[in-house]
Amino acid sequence: MSDMLIRNAMTILTMDDSRAELAGSDIRIRGGVIAAIGHDLPAEGCAILDAAGAVVTPGLVNTHHHLYQTLTRAVPGGQDALLFGWLQTLYPIWARFGPDEMFTSAQIGLAELALSGCSLTSDHLYLFPNGSRLDDTIAAASQVGLRFHPTRGAMSIGESAGGLPPDSLVEDEASILNDCIRVIDAFHDPNPGAMVRVGVAPCSPFSVTRDLMRDAALLARDKGVMLHTHLAENEEDIAYSLEKFGCRPGQYAQDLGWTGDDVWHAHCVKLDAQEISLFARSRTGVAHCPCSNCRLGSGIAPVRAMRDAGVRVGLGVDGSASNDVGNLMAEARQAMLLQRVQNGADAMSAREALEIATRGGAQVLGRDDCGQIAVGKRADIAIWDARAVENAGSWDPAALVLAGPAKVRDLFVEGRQVVAGGRMTTIDLDATITRQNKLAARLAE
Ligand SMILES: [Zn+2]
Repeated sequence: MSDMLIRNAMTILTMDDSRAELAGSDIRIRGGVIAAIGHDLPAEGCAILDAAGAVVTPGLVNTHHHLYQTLTRAVPGGQDALLFGWLQTLYPIWARFGPDEMFTSAQIGLAELALSGCSLTSDHLYLFPNGSRLDDTIAAASQVGLRFHPTRGAMSIGESAGGLPPDSLVEDEASILNDCIRVIDAFHDPNPGAMVRVGVAPCSPFSVTRDLMRDAALLARDKGVMLHTHLAENEEDIAYSLEKFGCRPGQYAQDLGWTGDDVWHAHCVKLDAQEISLFARSRTGVAHCPCSNCRLGSGIAPVRAMRDAGVRVGLGVDGSASNDVGNLMAEARQAMLLQRVQNGADAMSAREALEIATRGGAQVLGRDDCGQIAVGKRADIAIWDARAVENAGSWDPAALVLAGPAKVRDLFVEGRQVVAGGRMTTIDLDATITRQNKLAARLAE
């Protein structure tokens, strides 16, 4: 691959250690890495992309998703339900998924993310009906071209054992752990620049046993991979924890080895001051999912208090059955707006929201090689058209979270151009949309 020169950007929001903002600068990409940044870099041997009139940022990082749910957006029975009722509406539909549904829905979700400027995403897949496997989503991501952190989720407590999911969607715990080992050995790459890193992720403390939570943590540490689950999502979740486990979710997590810099929890809407302090001390990460929290009426996560305490926070679009959009730039805007609703107009700036969406997410996922534009970092770069209609008249086009646009013009992942001029370069998106809509129609029959 020849070098790429991104030339003469109006503004580069580097999100580097000094949060430098550069005017009229170039970026040279070589071998998937940012090789140079500066004015008038030599162009010999380079493909050239003109970035005049554009704002350049690190690729956005999505820390929580259930890609398979793009096949169950806006399901009528789940549109107005709270979390537990919402799950019970959707489980029987998800039980009919197979490998085709997993692959196609993941491609749609990944393309949707890419078009919103996201270069690195995690995914949380916790049901494997009809022969579907984590492998299906990994194959999808390798075609779409995003950097991918799939997590092997699981549920083991079905209806007959007092759980929420139907028995057909739960697995026995020995098989869960064996399959975690299989996918880690097959796909996990610990090296810098890795395109795939696997995590271990029981669905939530209320869908697996205490033993599985503990064993999952031991397995993840043995294999050197990260841990992920849902935690403290809403009031029902806290009440369940107090009743079944006799403690709050933060205590439960700590007791079972689920705190540390190799752990990140989704939502954490209801963390109290002690739990925030625990997460800060233990370097435990949080995936903040503001649109999903609004959609399910879960509340406003205390992100201002978390950031002030030193908790590592990233953003997540969450699954498309509870958002129902997978636009990460829109999520950054929502994160900023919610903190202002709760704490006032100076509670979060547009720059801080974008920082959480880039550098913050990369830190949560343990990717110090991503999330900033600096020499030696991976070439994951989003280019935003500051001449778009949303930005016309803006006095500060780099305040992207305020004025937009919310769709990216060009996106590079590991130096490869995945979006060009607002269109996917890696897959035939129109054909994929047609396939997805056929699958959705079959599920709705
Ligand atoms: Zn979720």
